[in-house]
Amino acid sequence: MLGSFRNPLLFSSLIGFLSACSSKQSADLIVHHGKVYTVDSVFSEEEAFAVKDGKILAIGTDSDILVHYSSAQVIDAGGKAVYPGFIDAHSHFGEYGQSLFSVDLFGSTSIEEVVERTKKFATGHPGTPWIFGTGWDQNKFTGKAFPNNTLLSQAFPNTPVTLMRVDGHAMMANDKALEIAGIHPGQTLPGGKVETEQGKLTGILIDNAWRLVAVKFPKPSPADEVAWGLAAQKNCFAQGLTCVADCGINTDQIQAYDSLQKSGKIKMRVYALIMDNPANLAYWIPKGPYHTDRLFVRGIKTYADGALGSRGACLLAPYSDKPAWTGYLLHPIAHYDSLAQALIHTDFQLCTHAIGDSGNRVILTAYGKVLGGTNDRRWRIEHAQVLAPEDIDLFGQYSIIPSVQPTHATSDMYWVAERLGTERIKTAYAYHQLLSQNGWMPLGTDFPVEDISPFKTFLAAVFRVDAKGFPPGGFQKENALSRQEAIQGMTIWAARSEFEEKEIGSLEVGKWADFIILDQDLMDVSSEDVLKTKVLSTWSAGQKVYSAQ
Ligand SMILES: [Zn+2]
Repeated sequence: MLGSFRNPLLFSSLIGFLSACSSKQSADLIVHHGKVYTVDSVFSEEEAFAVKDGKILAIGTDSDILVHYSSAQVIDAGGKAVYPGFIDAHSHFGEYGQSLFSVDLFGSTSIEEVVERTKKFATGHPGTPWIFGTGWDQNKFTGKAFPNNTLLSQAFPNTPVTLMRVDGHAMMANDKALEIAGIHPGQTLPGGKVETEQGKLTGILIDNAWRLVAVKFPKPSPADEVAWGLAAQKNCFAQGLTCVADCGINTDQIQAYDSLQKSGKIKMRVYALIMDNPANLAYWIPKGPYHTDRLFVRGIKTYADGALGSRGACLLAPYSDKPAWTGYLLHPIAHYDSLAQALIHTDFQLCTHAIGDSGNRVILTAYGKVLGGTNDRRWRIEHAQVLAPEDIDLFGQYSIIPSVQPTHATSDMYWVAERLGTERIKTAYAYHQLLSQNGWMPLGTDFPVEDISPFKTFLAAVFRVDAKGFPPGGFQKENALSRQEAIQGMTIWAARSEFEEKEIGSLEVGKWADFIILDQDLMDVSSEDVLKTKVLSTWSAGQKVYSAQ
């Protein structure tokens, strides 16, 4: 018998067995009595898990975990639903943070209201050298036409003021800002539009045109960047978000996130998509992807076209509400081809904003040429909003990943038929059809273009209604996702779209313990009650980062 113990494996397993009988394994945190949606490959439910060094050590039934593990910190989830922390696969986290410190124009119903809100902000922030605002939408104004800057320039003759449209694709600049940027009537440029009225500038600058003003913006101070990041993070944690993709940022902002995360100020995980410009590409392509516990840099973001709301989306046939106008591409087609060629030989992922059916076709074609067939490069098309029916299969053919934002469907539904007509709209916001192409699909919000709430994403994805419950029965309901698909889209599929599915996105042994406890269960809540869901607590790497009062 003794001879058996010469087998070291058997000997050590016996010791392990004996010690398990006498003492429990220590953990840093135990969560039990939960309805834990692990979002593993079979969407299994468990009751409890143990966390050590920020990662899931074990997961199972209450008795599995409580019998074998001990911890000074034991959380009774009270039978509530526990999900992996939500991941927003397409946001503008930095811009959102900044928007919290600028004029809030969301929901304005007239240009007069826009100017009044801006004046009120200026009174409360005297001496601001350049006033920024965001959130106006002319589709909410009487007549739905673009406004002009006359009232704004009268109110602010000496201070530059720039107010972004809700979609981030159009800006209203006052005369002072136009003067600083040297914009003149009749100015033309590729991929953008300088609007005029009877030969005069209106102050409306679309797509590449507003970037002419943006290069004149004062550089934010490091203190501003910290304040913006902390404010954005606070709101995200309160909504159960533990990771966001920040879509299209520069190297200095990526470096700022890295240092804020390393100093412990920012605990949000960030998938930083590098903005396509020569300086960023020259820095990152030779360097290659960058990865820490909280910062992932592996993708390049470019833009095919603009957006439907400001009629910059590139369509195959003219807009239904603007004869002979098809929008535009933001770069020549050769640019997309050469970017795809350059990246196919690297580990970088290409993520391209494409809204119109023509914009999408250009990108599907450019990707297809270098990808050649099915693959695991996970190149993404952001929004994939309006598609020619015959192009949809290209997503599956080349394993191109549509990265979609369900609330875009329920925000745009009020006016999008005017832009597209009744035929083209049938293959717009076609999320169910798109999901079937690859069998997985990340979801996001595009905040601050939309609200940051993942619950609004869930509501729009599953029920295809907005926060008011409109329309009864849902908008183009045939393209709804199931509850499980929506949850997967906000967790494991979002992680996969960032190459982080081995680290986050599900509650499985060895992954980061990023999780949330909710007061009601999204898997059975009624559509009327989805937005009443409260996040009771949010945890990142086993640390509580938000708690409901
Ligand atoms: Zn975006």
